[in-house]
Amino acid sequence: MVFLSFINPLSNEGREIVKEKGDLNEVFTRNNSLIETVSRIEHQNISDDSLLPNSYGELAIKRVQWYIERKNNKNFKYNDFAYLLNEEIVEADVISFHLLAQAIAIKFNINSRETRLFIESQGALIEERLRKLMPHNRQDIVNKLLNQLIIDDNISWTYLKELIASKKISLEDLVIDNGKIIIEKEDFIARFGEKFKDRAPERMYDIIIGENVKELILTKMIMQNTENYIEKIKEMSSTVEIHPAISELAESIEKTISELSSKYSSFYAGNVGESIKIGKLQREAFPPCITNTVEGVKSGGRNDAIVLLLTSFVSYARLFPGIFSVDHNIKVSDIDPNLTITLNEILPLIYEAADNCSPPLFEDQPQEKINITSKLGFGMHNDPKLENEGETTWYTPMSCEKIKMHLPQLCKPNKLCKGIGNPLSYYSRAKWQMQKEGKIPDDPANSNDSTNSMDHVDSADSTNSNDKEKN
Ligand code: SF4
Repeated sequence: MVFLSFINPLSNEGREIVKEKGDLNEVFTRNNSLIETVSRIEHQNISDDSLLPNSYGELAIKRVQWYIERKNNKNFKYNDFAYLLNEEIVEADVISFHLLAQAIAIKFNINSRETRLFIESQGALIEERLRKLMPHNRQDIVNKLLNQLIIDDNISWTYLKELIASKKISLEDLVIDNGKIIIEKEDFIARFGEKFKDRAPERMYDIIIGENVKELILTKMIMQNTENYIEKIKEMSSTVEIHPAISELAESIEKTISELSSKYSSFYAGNVGESIKIGKLQREAFPPCITNTVEGVKSGGRNDAIVLLLTSFVSYARLFPGIFSVDHNIKVSDIDPNLTITLNEILPLIYEAADNCSPPLFEDQPQEKINITSKLGFGMHNDPKLENEGETTWYTPMSCEKIKMHLPQLCKPNKLCKGIGNPLSYYSRAKWQMQKEGKIPDDPANSNDSTNSMDHVDSADSTNSNDKEKN
């Protein structure tokens, strides 16, 4: 029998475990039963004691560590964390999940990278744990959990609107008929069976919906419920005294994530291996369109040049030049967790350019500061603040094609522009070339820049930047 709470720790079964066995005084107490269970799990590497969690608190930290290591460490060994995929640890796992949720809720805001890492790690654990099950068990547990989460068989797509709005699920992933989401085979056949003349409707169900869609909905719903759970704890935490063990756990999580983020800095710069590094801005490497904008726009297009073109260019050039090489969303705080670079380097350059315009941008349109904040992903506010991150999307740089169309007066191509599809690609190429020629020093903080940037240029250019443009 597979424990439902091993997949969904927020299930009634999971909540019962926490009620019966969760004791905040035991968070960091050595748990011999847990150590013994983990040590005898098949394939678990027991050669190093530090690989094995010896308390609920340590298990909570290991869950997040597993996710970051698995995503970034090229030499990641599954056997170092084999226990996380073995349901013999179910009770400790459920308790550690709830401890993590509490620690994250009291220390970090809902859009923080820590919260995101926790929610993503839960999603990844669900996927891995389902993958390990025999097909029959896997279908059975998915059906049971979906039945618990979706009370009505006949669900309207609006039931999943939270998931759709937060882009956790795309409408394209779902089959919808008269506003109802079709999940079950019988329902699919009853509704569409007659429409398939040459193919068996059962086969079409497997192709169009199948178990994959069910598992996707299940995983995303549990991730969404985890987020909602954190928000609920957050609300409550202002009125109750926080247990010292939860505060200690929150500190340990922050330390672990911070250490791992340094170890895998490319992860926070986009998880694209060694090829993309952040670095100081080199104005000499700006393409003509950007240099012209920084010097001040004297004619039409002033607002768009500063708010749309320069804001996105400068922020990505400084923080994450490899944006077009990855297929997942990145936030400013993933790379600049305290917004130090954003506030001290990126915004001053944008404001300087705004001031160079004629007339200076903020003199007659001070509200454009809000639009700049918004394009960095921090909502409609005067200044970027971590608590507002995620209210809007971090706007990706315009392609050359769009600049030529909307801001033609700024595009004065030079020979490096040949074959370039986006000013960001120009920047990486120019910077790499200047470093190679010794015209600018290698950034000591990014010593790999000189050897790797061409990979980045090629990948950025081979990716059609327009595909990635979110706005
Ligand atoms: S070709 Fe592209 S990079 Fe070069 S100036 Fe024009 S818009 Fe800028």
